[in-house]
Amino acid sequence: GVTFPRPAETRILTVANQKGGVGKTTTTVNIAAALATGGLNVLVIDNDPQGNASTALGIDHHAGVASIYDVVIDDVPMEDVIQECKDIPGLLVAPATIDLSGAEIELVSMVARENRLRNAIQAYLGRESGDDRVDYVIIDCPPSLGLLTINAFVAAREVLIPIQCEYYALEGLSQLLKNIELIRGHLNPDLHVSTILLTMFDKRTNLAHEVASEVREHFPAETLEASIPRSVRISEAPSYGQTVLTYDRGSSGALAYLEAAQEIAQRASTPTNSQMASAVEK
Ligand code: ADP
Ligand code: MG
Repeated sequence: GVTFPRPAETRILTVANQKGGVGKTTTTVNIAAALATGGLNVLVIDNDPQGNASTALGIDHHAGVASIYDVVIDDVPMEDVIQECKDIPGLLVAPATIDLSGAEIELVSMVARENRLRNAIQAYLGRESGDDRVDYVIIDCPPSLGLLTINAFVAAREVLIPIQCEYYALEGLSQLLKNIELIRGHLNPDLHVSTILLTMFDKRTNLAHEVASEVREHFPAETLEASIPRSVRISEAPSYGQTVLTYDRGSSGALAYLEAAQEIAQRASTPTNSQMASAVEK
């Protein structure tokens, strides 16, 4: 199979968009599966109380299972909650259970409430070395800009924004970018939008092409060449506890996610050209 280049150091990506249903979870699990299929070690952190990423990866996350809630709220070490994805070697998952729905409120009164996920991830990464090193940490976020998402922004260096190729696609994006700027200014100077992925692209509609070219115009360096087609196979896979890469690996959806993952792996995690350009303008 394909072998993707290993990054010089662990890359941590937060998949975010405060809109629901744009493909955050689908992108998280399929990019993670594709990177692992490419020979890399990947840790998915399910940071959404709905636990959809855990479900899609076939991970047990019924109430009572050790989960990211225990890590963020009770200081349980990450390694104590991580499970291996049975179908995909190299893919680890820190699952979410319904407990996490209370975390948003519980975090409010906690000390260093924005840094809890970052500290847990860094403690985990600090303990391992060599060939077992995690190459990618990918964090799936809920559709809001609350404390769980803020924790993910503080923990990551890169943001991956999935954008659904439909009407209103860009609505809300400036709010998201403003929030990322705030986090960058106050909590995490390294944070930047490294990657934008066009999802649910229907090549038969003019609208999809219009949205795609508008996004590419605004974010020429960040937007991946690969876009993800609207595909029934992609939407069916989670109900079998699978990613589309194992569910139907020859499908257009599987190939698109493999291409997108390959592009991500080939890019350095340095600031993108258009960010450098805007820095020069200032
Ligand atoms: P989010 O995590 O942003 O809420 P999801 O990844 O859960 O979004 O996707 C929303 C819905 O759209 C899900 O039912 C998912 O299966 C479906 N979906 C996502 N990507 C595609 C695609 N490329 N083609 C068809 N359906 C998709
Ligand atoms: Mg989701």
